[in-house]
Amino acid sequence: MPENATYQQIGEIFARYDSFVIMSHVRPDGDAIGSQLALGLALEAAGNKVRMINDDGLPDNLAFLPSSERIELPPAEPLDVEVAIALDTATKPRLGEASLHAASKAKVWINIDHHKSNPRYGDVNHIDSSSPATGEILYKLITALNLPLTPATRDAIYVAVSTDTGSFQYPSTTADTYLMAADLIRRGLDVGRINSLTYDSHPYRRIQLTRALLNTLELTGGNHIAHWELTMATRDELGLKPEDSEGLIDMIRAIEGVTVALFFEELSDGKIRVSMRSKDPKVDASEVCSQFGGGGHALAAGIRMAGPMAEAKQRVLAAVQAAMPGNGN
Ligand code: AMP
Ligand code: MN
Ligand code: MN
Repeated sequence: MPENATYQQIGEIFARYDSFVIMSHVRPDGDAIGSQLALGLALEAAGNKVRMINDDGLPDNLAFLPSSERIELPPAEPLDVEVAIALDTATKPRLGEASLHAASKAKVWINIDHHKSNPRYGDVNHIDSSSPATGEILYKLITALNLPLTPATRDAIYVAVSTDTGSFQYPSTTADTYLMAADLIRRGLDVGRINSLTYDSHPYRRIQLTRALLNTLELTGGNHIAHWELTMATRDELGLKPEDSEGLIDMIRAIEGVTVALFFEELSDGKIRVSMRSKDPKVDASEVCSQFGGGGHALAAGIRMAGPMAEAKQRVLAAVQAAMPGNGN
């Protein structure tokens, strides 16, 4: 289906079926887990059977979300569900093999996302790249369809949107985003408490990680490109969890004069995870990442690519350099 399904068309599918599996991408962030909980709990409150699975389970830093214990690892056997819903997931393989297997009996696939690179892999797709977070699309869907907006769904939507907008700061944030936040607060959301749980409750090892990363920080490309790296050795030494690095890239993105920030991370399977942030709309991070099989948004994108680290760094930094203003762009 090349066109976006309307909220009403998605609502017709919700009305026709009563069993759903809700999924999101590997290494889930706040928008991934928040979106799963927001829609999953709304569909359940409307009387459906709902399972919420993620290949990497629930990260500790999001365990404060109400009913977050409902996020399960995928079961080994395929689930008896009619509808599979992928949220915030730019490509189908990013759901992870175990989740894809668990959802393999579903008759209908719904794909709701805000990544412009999303190839519309669902039977029904709603991709809105103007939305700063999948959570905001779900707020509009849930309110348009009059699905139950319980306190747990309310808090999950807020965290999804807050984390994907850098606390309502990135240029993707719109008047609609603030109106949504105001409505959630009117519905009883405790804004001080939820922000404190999201941003002021980090484990000490995250600060130790920041110190280790700062020791690897380099500026290149006339000081317009900042990058740092995390090796397996450091990960083992500090006993890190995948979510410990979430958002740290914002620190080097914030350096005055820096246009592109990169985080290179060694993964246990030998692959390299690259996080890329751009502050200049003329440097499209999603486009640079797509040269290596990755994707994302214009100002925030990522790659999973072959190692070793030194080679991945050299290749990606060369591509960033070529995309910088003044290099024939
Ligand atoms: P991250 O740097 O992991 O916070 O990711 C930044 C944005 O790019 C997020 O919206 C991700 O969903 C997206 N992204 C990250 N890695 C990939 C990838 N390998 N393929 C497609 N999109 C990605
Ligand atoms: Mn995400
Ligand atoms: Mn997102």
